[in-house]
Amino acid sequence: LVSVEMGDEYIETLAMAARGDLDAPFVVVWEGSVFDEHLSGGGYFFKLGADNERTMTSVEWLERLAPKAAAVIAIGSCATWGGIPAAEGNRTGSVAVMDHLGKDYRSAFGVPVVNVPGCSPIGDNFMETAAAVLLFLQGLGPLPDFDELGRPGWLFNETVHRHCPRAGYYEEGVFAEHYGEHECLVELGCWGPVVQCNIAERGIVNGTGGCMQMGGICIGCTMPGFPDKFSPLYVTPPGSLLSSNTSRVFGGFIRRIRRVTMVDKNRTARWENAESPPSGWARYRSKPGGGVKLIHRAYRAYQHSRIGS
Ligand code: SF4
Ligand code: SF4
Repeated sequence: LVSVEMGDEYIETLAMAARGDLDAPFVVVWEGSVFDEHLSGGGYFFKLGADNERTMTSVEWLERLAPKAAAVIAIGSCATWGGIPAAEGNRTGSVAVMDHLGKDYRSAFGVPVVNVPGCSPIGDNFMETAAAVLLFLQGLGPLPDFDELGRPGWLFNETVHRHCPRAGYYEEGVFAEHYGEHECLVELGCWGPVVQCNIAERGIVNGTGGCMQMGGICIGCTMPGFPDKFSPLYVTPPGSLLSSNTSRVFGGFIRRIRRVTMVDKNRTARWENAESPPSGWARYRSKPGGGVKLIHRAYRAYQHSRIGS
């Protein structure tokens, strides 16, 4: 059941849960960093209603509700790791939910803080995680596979790069020099090879969109080190100088010999001795000759030698 109340009715639901009067298990879903209200001077960073006529802050509600909750799910990189409010400077003393609750925190059902990071997080990731947790809490499903930081493992174990639609360009050492080009974006500042995020295969809304699909680089927004450890943004990551130049050398060689094979596979056996394909659309291409023809023959001889092996 999702609370749809607002105003005093909404706050009363929180108070009932904190008093143990809700008569049902509940899950706390926390969005945003946890502020240090001691730094707020005479005001509040995040005031959230009142209880018994005493003004409450959001962090007080968290401290009251978390021990009684069936689970605490942090959604978004501010809640999971501290995020941008906790970056260098951090005037609000912002920390992550799990920093605030501590390593020994367990929910009433014995579950540590569950983290669904992202800035912004993928909605489907959150709904899927919440559903898996609820099924577990109801005894209808196994404990989901969470990693050592409480991330759903099945969503965050892989890097962006492994599922990026541009990964083939990286492998062949072809890199975009400007936004709007369709090759790999690593030299424009993409951190995808070291970032755990599933947006490349899941998309951002209803399976569509996503950073690289839309022409953007990965700035590491799902990672605990974001944003400080990925700054300055839009600058080639230092590590990629080694990996992309290695791809440029070896991938460039592989790309060229693949091209030779591609030329052969674009000709039917019937066209083998024709000057060009019998297509009115074809630009004139002379049939492969000399060394290229020898390579094609050797390739096919080796390919067919393995039939039945
Ligand atoms: S754009 Fe980024 S994630 Fe995609 S292949 Fe290049 S480096 Fe990897
Ligand atoms: S690809 Fe990178 S920038 Fe895009 S959502 Fe994933 S972690 Fe964030």
